[in-house]
Amino acid sequence: MGWVHHRRDLGGLFFIDLRDKYGTTQVVFRPDDDQELHAKAGELGAEYVVAVRGEVSERPDGMVNPDLPTGDVELIARELIVLNASLTPPFVLKEPVKASDELRLEYRYLDLRRPHMQRLIEARHVAAQTTRAYLTEQGFTEIETPLLAKKTPEGARDFVVPSRVQPGKVYALPQSPQLYKQILMVGGCDRYFQIARCLRDEDLRSDRQPEHTQIDFEMSFVTEDDVFAVAEGLMQSIWRAVRGDELTVPFPRLPYRDAMLRYGSDKPDVRFGMEIVDLTDAVRESEFRVFRSTIEGGGVVRCLNASGCAVWSRKDIDTKEELAKKWGAKGLAWSKVEGAGLAGGISKFLSEVEVAAIIERAAATDGDIILFVADKETTVARVLGNLRVVLRDELSLVSPDDFAFTWVTEFPLFARNEETGAWEAEHHMFSMPREQDLKFLETDPGRVFGRLYDLVCNGFELASGSIRIHRRDIQERVMKVVGISAADADRRFGFLLKAFEYGAPPHGGLAPGLDRIIMLLTGEDGIRDTIAFPKTYRGLSLMDGSPSDVEQEVLDELGIALAEKRGAAPGESGE
Ligand code: ASP
Repeated sequence: MGWVHHRRDLGGLFFIDLRDKYGTTQVVFRPDDDQELHAKAGELGAEYVVAVRGEVSERPDGMVNPDLPTGDVELIARELIVLNASLTPPFVLKEPVKASDELRLEYRYLDLRRPHMQRLIEARHVAAQTTRAYLTEQGFTEIETPLLAKKTPEGARDFVVPSRVQPGKVYALPQSPQLYKQILMVGGCDRYFQIARCLRDEDLRSDRQPEHTQIDFEMSFVTEDDVFAVAEGLMQSIWRAVRGDELTVPFPRLPYRDAMLRYGSDKPDVRFGMEIVDLTDAVRESEFRVFRSTIEGGGVVRCLNASGCAVWSRKDIDTKEELAKKWGAKGLAWSKVEGAGLAGGISKFLSEVEVAAIIERAAATDGDIILFVADKETTVARVLGNLRVVLRDELSLVSPDDFAFTWVTEFPLFARNEETGAWEAEHHMFSMPREQDLKFLETDPGRVFGRLYDLVCNGFELASGSIRIHRRDIQERVMKVVGISAADADRRFGFLLKAFEYGAPPHGGLAPGLDRIIMLLTGEDGIRDTIAFPKTYRGLSLMDGSPSDVEQEVLDELGIALAEKRGAAPGESGE
């Protein structure tokens, strides 16, 4: 039984590729065997669901298809039952599929029949089962936390659910189980995990969805080393189960500062070198005014060695400069490496000593091109970090089958919101400050580093976590820095602060994102197809048409009046 994948008419014979989840089998209807059966087969269209009975027979010479697991046999049909007809599918279920994303999402049930989609679903299943087995073996207990929850801030907007029985009140859908998992530690649960749905009303990108899934875990009486060891074992077992790959552990650790300096990113792709090189002290006195004045103004000068790229034309360089400007740089200076010296671009402004320093630090050799950015440190990091990734792709420096995991550690606890100037939690406000920085909490929040860490792989943030605050006084001080008053803290997080006063143990945890893990494991570009029923960038489910209008009775029951009838939502043209 299965679907009619394809029908071919050949010299009076009908050949059908019968497909199910496990593959395809060729079925032959011969007019000489049974006229009526043959005529019936002639009516079958693509995606009809049929049952066929017959004899499996070796294919005649010259008809064997070595590319197909069933390619040396065929089924000689003796009986055919049409279990269901199908309208003509809006796209052909062939790999690679040639339909638009919109069409695939609207007809998701057809799209899911494709072997490619079946492989993704299977990979996700294997990863989830492996997670459960591994964490159980490590002594973790799977515990569910509420979906109708108290607001849990993770830096996004909440989806809210109005309560009918408590008029005027709302639940929030959890942005993560963060607060509940911490309360579970106070509840003596010691090692918790959950494959948890996290719901965030945020603007979507290719690796974001309004609902995503985390492998959420939390442990009591631990330090970073304990959390890392569990996560490393987890990644090892998942990679082994899904890909048969053996990951080397422990994963290297990279302090946030070094990541920004060397890779210009807190989620560096360390599969290739081409590291950013700091030149600030070497060009402090430079004749080249841009360098000198930037450094005098507190900025930095750094460069990338685009190895072997001296062949670039002026136009190639201009394209890179446009990118740099788009990312916030004022310009992109360059020099080509010729023999043991520099030529072209800004070379004429550089002294011999400067040239020697640049060549040595950038390990430059004949045929390379050096790209310089002089600006505020954050701008330089962003521009050279982005440029490094563009060069990675242009020069094919990496393979999607290589995986390089890194822990990024020692993040600052707070980041300043560039627009409002207010301090915000870098990760979330439940992360423990480093002991030695506690004294700066009130006086200089920018100097406080947190016991927080990310697990990064191939340029993606795969997991975030921290050792948590487990004391009310520290939690209140941190909340104050991010602008939450004592009264506000009590109203929003009183239950957590109260729990901390009843013997909360030290604890910490992590939450690897399952969708991104599947994306990496399967070589997908985004997370969308790792999810059976994803939303579009505008948060729409094109198959079932959600979100949808709500009936007046429902609103009345909830005591909700809409401010005005909103116009039609923007369509998907921006996809
Ligand atoms: N709840 C955090 C997040 O969703 C992860 C963690 O700190 O465990 O990013």
